[in-house]
Amino acid sequence: MSEILTAKTVNELKTEVRLWRSRGFRVGLVPTMGALHDGHLSLVKHVLEVADRCVVSLFINPKQFSTGEDFEIYPRQISADLHKLQSAGAHLAYLPTVDQMYPEGFCTRISLDGPASGLEGDLRPYFFSGVATVVTKLLLQALPDVAIFGEKDYQQVCVIRRVVKDLDIPVEVMSAPIARDAQGLALSSRNSYLNDNELRIARQLNKVLFSMSDALTSGADPIFIIDKTRAALRECGFDNVDYVALRKMETFGPWQPGDDGYLIGAVRIGKTRIWDGVRIAGPRQ
Ligand code: AMP
Repeated sequence: MSEILTAKTVNELKTEVRLWRSRGFRVGLVPTMGALHDGHLSLVKHVLEVADRCVVSLFINPKQFSTGEDFEIYPRQISADLHKLQSAGAHLAYLPTVDQMYPEGFCTRISLDGPASGLEGDLRPYFFSGVATVVTKLLLQALPDVAIFGEKDYQQVCVIRRVVKDLDIPVEVMSAPIARDAQGLALSSRNSYLNDNELRIARQLNKVLFSMSDALTSGADPIFIIDKTRAALRECGFDNVDYVALRKMETFGPWQPGDDGYLIGAVRIGKTRIWDGVRIAGPRQ
């Protein structure tokens, strides 16, 4: 196994990618905020199926956090991350500093509508414009052939697809299914915030969503199911149900029976927010 390369500046990243290109390699990018788990590593695996070289960016993007969110306490564990990436076969870890990404005077921000409206867009006012801004920068810095995003954040996948289309960014956007632990909990860097009791409650989220998606697939009324999902989540002990929503797969527009879609739920346990999604009318993940 060859040692993973690291790049701390845009120039270092560009130099390496240029070298790969001169050798005819196809390049893939996996944007992350670090604190890597098997969900992130599954994205690396998917990229390596379609690209010869895999760049993983690890950057906790301050522009996508609002005041009071967890930017300061977000887990940071670079050396463990590098070890995991090397074992997963990634070729380069891109570790820009905040000053590299947003030098003094930086004043550009992507503003969005469409799939960025509603749900996370309503709850986290800076989130999608921060994500779109940093992902656009990462795509233009690395100029990969392909970039991959997890369906764990399905609204984000739809937003990125739209941004890439609207801004004519020359990259293929792929998405990958949600990686779960043995009991079905969607893997997330934020799961590390949960104590044992909170973890026990968190494990109910996927169970409720899977059972409601089965009911929808069998023809249950969508409005009834959304209400029933909310009630079931409250009964599980979640402190708040931020939303339960049914969205169409490609556009993130309203779901109609027969559409491929997602049943999405976002909840709070104590100070931690978690979310998950389950496909409707498509193959079970
Ligand atoms: P994050 O580091 O949380 O910003 O996530 C980086 C990328 O990994 C995003 O595209 C996420 O959607 C994806 N991701 C996070 N958790 C999972 C998971 N459990 N399964 C698949 N992809 C994931």
